[in-house]
Amino acid sequence: MEFTLSIKNVGKKYGDVIALNGVSLDVKKNIIFGIVGPDGAGKSTLIRILCGLLKPDEGEINILDAEMPKDYLKIKDSIGYLSQKFSLYADLTVDENIEFIAEIHGVKEFHDRREELLEFTRMKKFRKFLAGNLSGGMKQKLALACTLIYQPKLLFLDEPTTGVDPVSRREFWLILAGLLKEDITIIISTPYMEEAERFNEIALIENGHILAVDSPAGIKSRIRNTVLEIVCTPARKAYDLILASGDDELQLFGDRVNVILDKEAGSEEKVVKLLKDNEIIINDLRKTSPTLENAFIHLLKESA
Ligand code: ADP
Repeated sequence: MEFTLSIKNVGKKYGDVIALNGVSLDVKKNIIFGIVGPDGAGKSTLIRILCGLLKPDEGEINILDAEMPKDYLKIKDSIGYLSQKFSLYADLTVDENIEFIAEIHGVKEFHDRREELLEFTRMKKFRKFLAGNLSGGMKQKLALACTLIYQPKLLFLDEPTTGVDPVSRREFWLILAGLLKEDITIIISTPYMEEAERFNEIALIENGHILAVDSPAGIKSRIRNTVLEIVCTPARKAYDLILASGDDELQLFGDRVNVILDKEAGSEEKVVKLLKDNEIIINDLRKTSPTLENAFIHLLKESA
């Protein structure tokens, strides 16, 4: 089969809350696929359904050529799952934690693989440390090594970098990119648009709906216009003024207003004059290409 994972019309409610609504996705083999959206969008629910921890109310799910949840036992050892709340055994060492997970999954010949993973995650020096004494970033790398000891074909990571410092985060991304040399597909959720730039493909999700599935470049190309980025004070007032004055799509990010310029010439000059006439201080002004965040908000407005 061409896809590692293929789902159709998956739905899930918690009481009256619709967490997922008609979600369909096809994920190719051997890529990093991102599920990207704000808090409460339905990312965790989707991942937990995909790795067999939660039953959907409806929909078809095919994973590694098995029908889920019916054939879950056939593929359970081919799936790895790392949540934000991964659990390690604090009073076991790094080595022992990995060995323990290998045993649970019936992997007897784990020694070579463990060496490889410790090398790969640069954890060799710490192998005799108790897991409880590791830093946050190291704990996370150990949890990843534990998940990889049984060589899953499909790895689910639910917001693995939330709350992790930037340096460890960067290292974690390099480790994941390196993993693709093996026969593995990585599905990862994140609320951070800038992280999503690193993925091969992404699904943008909001309110239980998929807004778009494409490569980051493909998603960005859905806004064909240029973006006029204005850093100004007070930004909120500038936003309100521009909004009242025309039809350009606007997005506000803290002290930045982004105007998605339509093709009509002269709109930049119009906006600048408007702000100057109203005594808005323009600290910086430039035309940029749309970011993923611009595209996400654009798609969100379009779908509403
Ligand atoms: P995300 O991972 O994107 O933050 P979730 O899948 O956790 O989103 O949540 C999707 C929606 O379902 C949210 O509105 C959330 O409040 C709700 N939800 C999640 N888990 C439960 C639960 N166990 N009971 C009730 N509502 C839940």
